[in-house]
Amino acid sequence: MTLPPTVRLYLQDDECCDAEATVVAAAADALALDRTCFYPGGGGQPSDAGEARLEDGTVLAIASARADAQGVVWHECRPAPHAAMVGQRVALYADAVRRRTLSRHHTALHVLNTIALRDYGALITGAQIGLDYSRIDFRLEGFSSALVAVLEASANAVLAAGHPLSARYVAEEEFRERGDLARTLEARPPVVDGRVRVVEIAGFDAQACGGTHVRSTAEVGRIAIFRTENKGRINKRLYVRLEPAGAA
Ligand SMILES: [Zn+2]
Repeated sequence: MTLPPTVRLYLQDDECCDAEATVVAAAADALALDRTCFYPGGGGQPSDAGEARLEDGTVLAIASARADAQGVVWHECRPAPHAAMVGQRVALYADAVRRRTLSRHHTALHVLNTIALRDYGALITGAQIGLDYSRIDFRLEGFSSALVAVLEASANAVLAAGHPLSARYVAEEEFRERGDLARTLEARPPVVDGRVRVVEIAGFDAQACGGTHVRSTAEVGRIAIFRTENKGRINKRLYVRLEPAGAA
C-alpha cells in the first residue's frame, strides 16, 4: 500500500504541538497518521517526542518520529502498534518545552551561519541541534579565539535586535537560480509540491529550511560559543549553548 505524504502541521505553525489526526497505517514499531504536529527530525534537528491518545482510550508514548522517503511520518510508540489502531482518531501532544528549546537552538544556528558566511565566507559542513547544546561545523580560514569572540558578540547583537521570523515558499526553479537561499542547514532542501520552504529573518537573512524556529530572534536570548574543535585543517566545530536569561 502506498500512503500519501503526511500533512505536516508544524510547517504552518512552528509552535503547533497539539493536533487531531487519523491513524492510516501500523508498522511493527510505529504508526503513520494522515497529519501530524510531530517534527520527524532532519537538518540536524532531532525529532519531537510526546504522547498520543487513541479514541479507544489507549495512551501511546511517542519516543520519536521519522519520515520515510515518500514523506510519510512514522511515530515510534509504546505499547506496540497493532492493526486495530488503523482508522482510529488520535489526539497528539508533542512535548512543547522540548520543541521550543530545539527551535531556539535552531534559530541561533541560522544567525551564526549567516554571520559566518557574510563576515568570513564560511560555509556550513554539518550541524547537530540538541537540548543542552548544539554544534555547527564550518569551513573557516583564519580561525582564532578572537574570531570566535567576535562571532559570538555579532550573533548576540542580532538576537537581541528582535528580528521577526517567517516562512514562505518559492518555486523550485527560483530556488535553483538564487544561490543565496541554498546556504542551508540541510544538505537537501525541503521540496513540497515543487516548492521550497524558505525561512526569513526579517532584515537579516533568508534560507531554505524545513525545521522549526521561534517567532523573533529575541526569543532565543543570548548564546555562548563555549568550546571549539579542529575537525581538519579548515574544518572547525563550534559548540553553542543558550545562556540563562539575564546573563551578561
Ligand atoms: Zn531552520
